[in-house]
Amino acid sequence: MARLVMKFGGTSVANIDRIRNSARHVKREFDAGNEIAVVVSAMSGKTNELVGWCKEIAPFYDHAEYDVVVASGEQVTSGLMALALQELGMPARSWQGWQIPIYGSEAHGSSRIEGVDGAGILAGYDRNREIAVCSGFQGLHAQSHRIVTLGRGGSDTSAVALAAGLKADRCDIYTDVDGVYTTDPRVVPKARRMDKVSFEEMLEMASLGSKVLQVRSVEIAMVHRVPTYVRSSFDDPDNPNPGTLICDEDDIVEQQIVTGIAFSRDEAQITLRRVADKPGVAAAIFGPLADANINVDMIIQVVSDDQATTDITFTVPTADYERAKTLLESRHDTIAYQALQGATDVVKISAIGVGMRSHAGVAARAFRALSEKGINIRAITTSEIKFSVLIDAAYTELAVRTLHSLYGLDAA
Ligand code: ADP
Ligand code: ASP
Ligand code: MG
Repeated sequence: MARLVMKFGGTSVANIDRIRNSARHVKREFDAGNEIAVVVSAMSGKTNELVGWCKEIAPFYDHAEYDVVVASGEQVTSGLMALALQELGMPARSWQGWQIPIYGSEAHGSSRIEGVDGAGILAGYDRNREIAVCSGFQGLHAQSHRIVTLGRGGSDTSAVALAAGLKADRCDIYTDVDGVYTTDPRVVPKARRMDKVSFEEMLEMASLGSKVLQVRSVEIAMVHRVPTYVRSSFDDPDNPNPGTLICDEDDIVEQQIVTGIAFSRDEAQITLRRVADKPGVAAAIFGPLADANINVDMIIQVVSDDQATTDITFTVPTADYERAKTLLESRHDTIAYQALQGATDVVKISAIGVGMRSHAGVAARAFRALSEKGINIRAITTSEIKFSVLIDAAYTELAVRTLHSLYGLDAA
C-alpha cells in the first residue's frame, strides 16, 4: 500500500468523458489498495475564459476578486470528479483550497504556498480510505480569510505541495503528453521522451518556458524530495505507461551534455540608446524596475565608442513590457537616454544540461549553428547548466529544431 497524489490537468478533465476516463486511472490505484488524494485543474479553456471576464468588466481589476472568479473553475471539476469516482463505487469527497486548508501568501494571483494541513484528508483515509478530490490552483490566506490563487499552471504546485504535506510516496502529474520530452513535442516532432530527468534540469526547463510543469512545483518536489512523475491520462487506465520521473541527478546513469531545449515567447526587449556611460546609470535604470516588481532577465551593455554614452539592452516579461516602458519614460530626465526602443516579437531559446558544468564550448557550437541558418542573436546569457539566446520570434521553430539536432537529441 502506498499514499499517492494524482493530479489531472485541464485537458484530462476537459469534458465528462475525459473526467470519467481520469476517474478510471484513480480506480486502478484505489483497487491496488492505495490511499489517494486527487488534484484537479479547471476544464481546459475555462481559466482563460474566467480571466477574460475579469479583464472585460474591469481592466485594472482588484486582484482579490480576480482570485474569487478564477478559482471557481477548479471548484466545478472537483465536484464532478468526486461524483465520477462515486459512480465507480469509490468513497470520494471534494475539498476546496480553503477547506483543506492549503495556506498561501497574500499575493493575489501569484500566491506562494506556505503550509498544508492534511489532518482532514488523513482522517478520511482512516475512516474508509476516502479519496480526497482537491481543487488545484487555490489556497487560503490565513490572516484575511480570502481565497488566493497560485499563478497560471498552479495546480501542479498544489499537487506536489499536497504530496509533501501528506508525506505521500509519489506524486503523479497526469497530462496530455506521456512524459517530459527533450523539447516541446508540439514544436519538434522528433523530440524524445525521457525516462528520468533531474530536479535541477527540470527546474531550468520549467523556468525557461517548458510549461509542462509550473516552476514552483519543481522547487517543492526538489526541496521535499517528492518522487514526481509526468504521465498521460490518455493511456489505457488498465495498462498505463510510467511516464517521466523527476529525480536526483545521481539516479540518472546516462548523462547527456545537453538534455533539453526550452523556449519562451513571454520575453520583450528594451534598448536604451546613448545613456551616459558613468557610475550609477545601471542602478538608475534597474532600481526602479525592481521596485516595481518587474523581473529583468538578459542584460547587455555595449562598450561605447565615444567613452561618453553607451547602449543598454535587456529583457522583461511580455506582460510587464508596457509598464516597464512607461516607467522608464517617466524617468527620462534622470536616466538621460537618447531613445527608447522596444520589441515584443522576440523569443528566448535555451539549452539545458548538467553536463555543461564539465564541458567547454557547448554554447559556441550553438552560435555557429544558428548563424549558419542566418539567425541573428540579439542577446545571450549563460549560467552553470544552461545558456539562452534571444532571437526574432519568426525563427522560433527553426532555431529550436537546429539546436535539438545539434546536441543529438532527435529521435532516431
Ligand atoms: P495540463 O493542462 O495537463 O497542466 P499543460 O498544457 O500545462 O497541461 O502542459 C502540457 C503541455 O506542455 C504539453 O501539451 C506540451 O505541449 C507542453 N510542453 C512544453 N514543453 C514540454 C516538454 N519538454 N515535454 C513535454 N511537454 C512539454
Ligand atoms: N486552471 C489553472 C490555469 O489554467 C491552473 C492549472 O491548470 O494548473 O492556469
Ligand atoms: Mg499545466
